[in-house]
Amino acid sequence: MLNIFNSLTRKLEALKPIKDKQVGFYACGPTVYNYVHIGNLRSILLGDLIRRVLEYDGYQVKHVMNITDVGHLTSDADTGEDKMEKEAKTEMDVYGIATKYTRAFLEDMNALNMLPPHVMPKASEHIAEQIKLIKLLIARDIAYESDEAVYFDVSKFPSYNQLTGQKLGSMMLGARQDVVRDPKKRNPIDFVLWFKAVGRYQNHILRWDSPWGVGFPGWHIECSAMSAKYLGQPFDIHAGGIDLKFPHHSNEIAQSEAAAKKPLANIWVHGEHLLIDASKMAKSEGNFVTLKTLTDKGYSPLAFRYLTLTAHYRTKLNFTWDALTAAQNALNNLYQEISSYDQPKVGCAEFEQHFQDAINDDLNLPQALAITHDLVRSEYPGSAKLQSLLKFDQVLGLKLKETWEEARKIPDVVSRFIGSREEARKAKNFTKADELRKAIEKEGYLVEDTPDGYRLKKKF
Ligand code: AMP
Ligand code: ZN
Repeated sequence: MLNIFNSLTRKLEALKPIKDKQVGFYACGPTVYNYVHIGNLRSILLGDLIRRVLEYDGYQVKHVMNITDVGHLTSDADTGEDKMEKEAKTEMDVYGIATKYTRAFLEDMNALNMLPPHVMPKASEHIAEQIKLIKLLIARDIAYESDEAVYFDVSKFPSYNQLTGQKLGSMMLGARQDVVRDPKKRNPIDFVLWFKAVGRYQNHILRWDSPWGVGFPGWHIECSAMSAKYLGQPFDIHAGGIDLKFPHHSNEIAQSEAAAKKPLANIWVHGEHLLIDASKMAKSEGNFVTLKTLTDKGYSPLAFRYLTLTAHYRTKLNFTWDALTAAQNALNNLYQEISSYDQPKVGCAEFEQHFQDAINDDLNLPQALAITHDLVRSEYPGSAKLQSLLKFDQVLGLKLKETWEEARKIPDVVSRFIGSREEARKAKNFTKADELRKAIEKEGYLVEDTPDGYRLKKKF
């Protein structure tokens, strides 16, 4: 039912799960050496959205998201300083930092109403699996060892350019611009599977024994090892931010496919970036905004979730405070509208069909949101609208049920005012009725008169 853009084939494809109604889904998680920013969260939200759409369609999803707690060495041309270790002097510090930022990240996920992935494996707890995979690559003569590292030999994997679509030759030339420090490295584009704790890495804090001496894994190998462990190979869908296409996902594919001689994942989904002032929001750029920055300014986390739903995942989204304010207002209006609805009953089939078509059309959430608002504006009774809206919210994740239930807890004083106002209206005492309307408003509720009687809404 789901048609989704596969970055691997650069085409819209119908999802055909390997195991009938079950879907194995892996999304790359964050590096936990700092607070995640709302750009990272846009990509993590894409994972949540994919999971929710699949579940809406009736699939049983196994959602795996890794936590990168071993640092983040993207290439051997890096400074040699593990980003996480910059802040730490001992192993305890490193794990302390990782634990602190992992907790903060999980709190952000929860505040954004993301469903917790079924498995959240940590790279540091899967070193044995990573070593086993590297050993297999060496045994297959696809990886080789130097005095400093174990490398993946890209020349042995001709389809290395599958995801980027670039010519292998030009990718090699691009890599040549890196500073090449290891004389035994065969080709500049070869990437590290295992770093030895020697030379510039001799003081690396996190270290493990391996067949190649004490050291630590390269970044990409964790996802290959952990996805195979929890989902098998191949699995159905792999997702992440667009910057991960190269080198991270290209390397994951190379490692896993060269080792197992079968594809890693059938469908690759990449989410576009969140921008700020027209450039990519990034930890390294110092232009990042965290979820806490938003909540400190009085926005609700779900306003940010709503904002991400307004842009298709394959388009860039420029973050501005005006856009966030508009999202908050739209969300508040939605909450206000549903607060007057009666108990959910018999949904609106026609809207439900349109909604399901939209989400299955390459996750067209902007369209799904438009349908949601059309439904709210429609002539259907509130109870029917609510029935369908609560269904839609399984995907939107805007906490409509909780909000509606909360809003329906009408304070006694408001109920009394309502009763008196109805009496005043019957007695044609409109001055009194109007005063009572104002008193109700002071209590945070709006009363509107309709041909079928009054309607009470909670103000948001
Ligand atoms: P990292 O912690 O750097 O490994 O990133 C975690 C996730 O955030 C990855 O899927 C990245 O692709 C994604 N990401 C990083 N920056 C942005 C951004 N500005 N907009 C959207 N996603 C991003
Ligand atoms: Zn990954």
